Amino acid sequence: MIRITEILDKLYEYYPDADVDIIDRAYIFSARVHAGQLRLSGEPYLAHPLEVANILAEMKLDPVSISAGLLHDVVEDTHSTLEEISSIFGKEVTHIVSGVTKISALPFSSDQHRQAENTRKMILAMADDIRVILVKLADRLHNIQTLHYHHSPEKRKRIAQETLDIYAAIAARLGIYWIKRELEENAFYYANLEAYKKIEDLVKKEQGEREKYVTTVRKMLEEKINRSGISGEVNGRYKHYYSIHQKMKSQGLEFEEVYDIIAFRIIVESVSECYATLGTIHSRWKPIPKKFKDYIAVPKPNMYQSLHTTVVGPYGERMEIQIRTREMDYVANYGIAAHWSYKEGKSQNVNADKTFAWIQNLVENQKSFRDPEEFLENVRIDLYPDEVFVFTPTGDVKSLPKGATPVDFAFLIHTEVGKECTGTRVNGRLVPLSYPLKSGDIVEIITSRGSQPSKDWINFVKTVKAKSSIRQHTRKLERERSLSLGREMCEKGFRKHKLNFNALLKTPEMAKIAEEFGFKEVEDLIANVGIGKITPLQIVRKFDPKIKEKKDLNLIEKVMSRQASRKRRDKEGGVMVQGMEDILIRFGNCCHPVPGDSITGYITHGQGVTVHRSSCINALKMDPERRIAVEWKTGENEMFPASLTVSGYDQVGLLADISTAISKANANINDVHLEHRDNNIVLVHFTIIVNNIEHLEKVIASLKNVPVISDVKRV
Ligand code: MN
Repeated sequence: MIRITEILDKLYEYYPDADVDIIDRAYIFSARVHAGQLRLSGEPYLAHPLEVANILAEMKLDPVSISAGLLHDVVEDTHSTLEEISSIFGKEVTHIVSGVTKISALPFSSDQHRQAENTRKMILAMADDIRVILVKLADRLHNIQTLHYHHSPEKRKRIAQETLDIYAAIAARLGIYWIKRELEENAFYYANLEAYKKIEDLVKKEQGEREKYVTTVRKMLEEKINRSGISGEVNGRYKHYYSIHQKMKSQGLEFEEVYDIIAFRIIVESVSECYATLGTIHSRWKPIPKKFKDYIAVPKPNMYQSLHTTVVGPYGERMEIQIRTREMDYVANYGIAAHWSYKEGKSQNVNADKTFAWIQNLVENQKSFRDPEEFLENVRIDLYPDEVFVFTPTGDVKSLPKGATPVDFAFLIHTEVGKECTGTRVNGRLVPLSYPLKSGDIVEIITSRGSQPSKDWINFVKTVKAKSSIRQHTRKLERERSLSLGREMCEKGFRKHKLNFNALLKTPEMAKIAEEFGFKEVEDLIANVGIGKITPLQIVRKFDPKIKEKKDLNLIEKVMSRQASRKRRDKEGGVMVQGMEDILIRFGNCCHPVPGDSITGYITHGQGVTVHRSSCINALKMDPERRIAVEWKTGENEMFPASLTVSGYDQVGLLADISTAISKANANINDVHLEHRDNNIVLVHFTIIVNNIEHLEKVIASLKNVPVISDVKRV
């Protein structure tokens, strides 16, 4: 079992001033709470957090990361709590431990291979501090190194496959290649023992030959570059088993074809020496066209820099050569960790690629870490600012745009699930359908057969699929409503003229009439009656041209029909009916709503929708089944009738005073009648025409200013 002093010695090497007090305390705490627990290997449990801390020190990480490594399993595996950790070790350590615990507890499905990409993204999205990922990788590395102690072969295989699919890929993504290689070599053995053994045998068979070859060529290369005045270091390296396996599989190559290519790496002191070395190599051995890559001028997104070339070697074989500086080599191995680890205060000066803005941010800010606040800033990451990753109840990972809601999730699962969705549980708790999902959430949709999507969902859904499905459904509903409304209106309209609409419906005459109105189907004609574009009378007159249009409208009806015709012309003003455009609207004669009043609509038999004030007694008595939501949608200078009753003293000039007050408020009187009461009181009932509720209130205020008027009431 590694000792804590060895880890501290390692830390002092790259960070001589490190404050190790927190590490000491974390070590003691971890030892205490894990006391008595054993690993499957039979070792004390503490060996595991110590090894994890050691890997983190290998990565040259800060004391906080190392402390978090020592404590990473205490919340999951012992009785201690995050609150306890927080009170003893502070916010940062707690944040990392909590992040690692959360990731370890994710309920991934067994079929992870299929959704590996989403799973990787979810883990990265959940870690808002890069150190969470680094501790998790160190944890996984030690676990896979000790996997042979695991009893069940199935579980070993599952953990190994998960390591390949998820964690090795994340290490590669962050550019920490030594961890990627270690994870892969260990996991490969358990994930595919047969393939591993085969490659192992083949490699061993030729090992003697190969080592001789590597030594010879290495010397050749060294001499060649030394003669041109460059002091470089040459390494010959075998490909590791897993990468041989991958290459054989992905490119359909035989073992020999992959294994024959041996890569040499030349480490030099400066960038100019890199190019000089390349020139020297190319002048001696023939380069293979299109195999040259300049990752120094154009670094990879994970900051990897190097020159790559393939040449025809001394024995006519293909030979891969990588040329890079010591710094580039360090970055190639340690990736992102290299960029903010405590590195002797030496600036990296690496040309970070723009692809990952967060890495660039890290590089720019890593110049000095003297200020702990500043350091914290550097480890904050948001890798997927536009996405969230959530689970289905069976452990599948789904990706959604940030801000997406359970309704979006439901439509992503299936259109029918979206349509019939009535509620949702997130992480087992009931939440509103508009709840913004977070990465790692487990989302369960509650459906009910025959339930309809609500039009209001449009206001919070984020995905195109949910939006268009809801719109489509709303349009369908709208169409159904206008059809049934149109049918009712026609039935009534026809009956008035002693015609039977339903008997005529299927006749060729009706089809012809529909055509005359410009519609392909009779249904379209009826739907247009429903939305008020065509009146039943217009159709009736096609059957019997002798029937005349109504002429004797009263004054208020005239105002309203004027409004109606204007509304139809410019398609705005009046009232909007939920889910329907441009429907035939009438206003209740009982309560005369004006814009600004709280209103409600009723679907009437054959007369479109009647709008009443919400407080109207008649409206309250109507069948709630026929109630429909409506809202004001008025343009400028619309006119609406409103009824008022004024009580005042019966004296000369009362009516004149009233009419002056009303015209002062820029309104017109439409209809007046007087009602005499006892005590010299007279009630004046009249209808005025106003634009909206404010206008009406102005009129009322103006009336109340008249001394002889004792009361003004809206009827
Ligand atoms: Mn662990």
